[in-house]
Amino acid sequence: MATLEIDCPVCGEVLELGAEDRAQLHPGDVIVCDSCSAEMEVTRNGGGEDFELELLGILTECPSCGEEFEVTDELLSAAPVIESADGAAVSLVDCPHCHARIELEFEPEAGEAAGPAR
Ligand SMILES: [Zn+2]
Ligand SMILES: [Zn+2]
Repeated sequence: MATLEIDCPVCGEVLELGAEDRAQLHPGDVIVCDSCSAEMEVTRNGGGEDFELELLGILTECPSCGEEFEVTDELLSAAPVIESADGAAVSLVDCPHCHARIELEFEPEAGEAAGPAR
């Protein structure tokens, strides 16, 4: 079996799953992105290209109190999106620990090079 490459739905980083890694994964298992710590649940693991993930949430560290918390789709859809100083769209979420407002910036969809490169 070939190595399976998965694009992280959050940061676009390519995660490589070797045949052995994959053989140990079952639906319900969770993969964590090395790059942004997003958690993805395996929903299908058949064979070949038959592999699906569902984004669970993104673990982020509050810059204010240092506690880690999970940013879920739900939290994000409820969060207002504002434009930050450099023109990027950021979501404002509340830290569940200290209630600081935290700006979260997400990369545009893969393949869409929006705006000037950093
Ligand atoms: Zn990632
Ligand atoms: Zn906090």
